[in-house]
Amino acid sequence: MELAFDVVCIGAGVCGEAVASELAGAGLSLALVEERLVGGECPYWGGVPTKAMLRCAEVAAEAVRAGELAARRLLIELDFARVAARTSRLARGWDDAAAAHALEEAGATLVRGRGVLAAPGLVEVDGTRLRARRAVVICCGTAPELPPVRGFADVDPWTSREAVMANELPRSLTVLGGSVVGVELAQAFRRLGARVTLVEGGSGLLPHEEPEAGAALRWHLEAEGMTVLTGTQAVAAEPVRRGVRLSLRGGRQVTSARLLVATERRPQLGGFALAEAGVDLQGGFVRVDSRTLRAAEGIYAGGDVTGLGASAPLARHHGQVIGARLRGEDRLADHRAVPRVAFTDPEVASVGLTERAARERLGALRVVTVDAAASVRGSVHGFRSGLIKLVADPGRGVLVGATVVCPRASELISSLALAVRAELPLALLAETLQPLPTFARALQGALARAAA
Ligand SMILES: Cc1cc2nc3c(=O)[nH]c(=O)nc-3n(C[C@H](O)[C@H](O)[C@H](O)COP(=O)(O)OP(=O)(O)OC[C@H]3O[C@@H](n4cnc5c(N)ncnc54)[C@H](O)[C@@H]3O)c2cc1C
Repeated sequence: MELAFDVVCIGAGVCGEAVASELAGAGLSLALVEERLVGGECPYWGGVPTKAMLRCAEVAAEAVRAGELAARRLLIELDFARVAARTSRLARGWDDAAAAHALEEAGATLVRGRGVLAAPGLVEVDGTRLRARRAVVICCGTAPELPPVRGFADVDPWTSREAVMANELPRSLTVLGGSVVGVELAQAFRRLGARVTLVEGGSGLLPHEEPEAGAALRWHLEAEGMTVLTGTQAVAAEPVRRGVRLSLRGGRQVTSARLLVATERRPQLGGFALAEAGVDLQGGFVRVDSRTLRAAEGIYAGGDVTGLGASAPLARHHGQVIGARLRGEDRLADHRAVPRVAFTDPEVASVGLTERAARERLGALRVVTVDAAASVRGSVHGFRSGLIKLVADPGRGVLVGATVVCPRASELISSLALAVRAELPLALLAETLQPLPTFARALQGALARAAA
């Protein structure tokens, strides 16, 4: 069977849904192909359920802190079943009926199954051919990939997907990978009662961020009783009576009830006729023009599949830009100030360039590093080991990057994202009054030093 549409989207995740919203009522017919759940990773296995678990874990940890700040005796009995039930509820019970209905209400046609780009302008889904008169949009995101470690297949490791769907708390958990997904899930499970070992191959946690940020977070994770091993790689895994034994380079072994692998995520583009369609890959991701998101003649790509970032707001922005361009508008994507956040406690939030990236691109820099905890808000809160790191271009008197480690740093980063994007003068930022005591006030002090 062959059906024809103006636009065919492979993937109905965050980016695909945004394309559909942009095209609703625009007079273009749209087919969205989805092999799992409409809505993609974010609502079912990504941001929503992980943050739901982290919120439960945070409440439990704060309750325990009453023993330090306000109580003589505590009785807290953690109940993972309640956490699992709440996580499931917030993840829509892994049911996409409402999301699918909303898509069809918006005028799109939903095609269930795995879509492949069979030829330029042609997508095949289980034998059905979808012809795209105007464009194909590749927005199929990424999926967790297990690194080629001997024995992984025998130990039934979790990825983030199984972790957020868990109904029982493992007594102990080894988390492989100290990037955002790894640190978030490691902290959630630790605070909810598991003994956790976090293993990262790079020299520090959050290897794509400022090294000071990973170090500050590590202090907190270790203070909560987590074992953190960095600079070491897994070489083998084997089932043992009590779970999984992971062997690390250098001879160390870690045994736990469960292994959670949170290392690579990659686009799954097997069977796509990319070369024939003129689409290039870069490190396994679809290469696009970062402004127009065009991958080849008649082909756009947006969201995680492009490797330009991995966040829901960015995927949505890409979908909006692609949709607007398909409607004939000359809208361009903007990557100058994409916030990045690890929603641990404390949160690690950043925007723009790290010091290292800025040194490669710019000449002279002004770098200011202070401890967010060394502030009135830090003392009042009882907070330790934070960070505010600002990277400024002294020639232009503007901020080019910022990293904050403190409670709710994700809220603070929005003003810094605006500052980076709008190239607001450092002097103006430093003179803008902030309430006291807040971490924003501590930030103002750092901005004043960067402006001086
Ligand atoms: C554990 C975790 C936590 C996260 N937390 C956050 C967070 O707190 N904040 C944040 O902003 N971002 C977070 N993210 C990232 C966020 O989920 C992604 O950036 C976002 O979902 C990307 O949207 P997308 O549309 O590019 O891809 P996706 O949301 O992955 O959607 C792609 C869709 O395409 C479908 N698909 C794939 N291949 C095919 C095919 N061949 N045919 C048909 N359908 C296909 C998939 O099933 C999927 O539904 C998190 C991610 C993970 C894994």
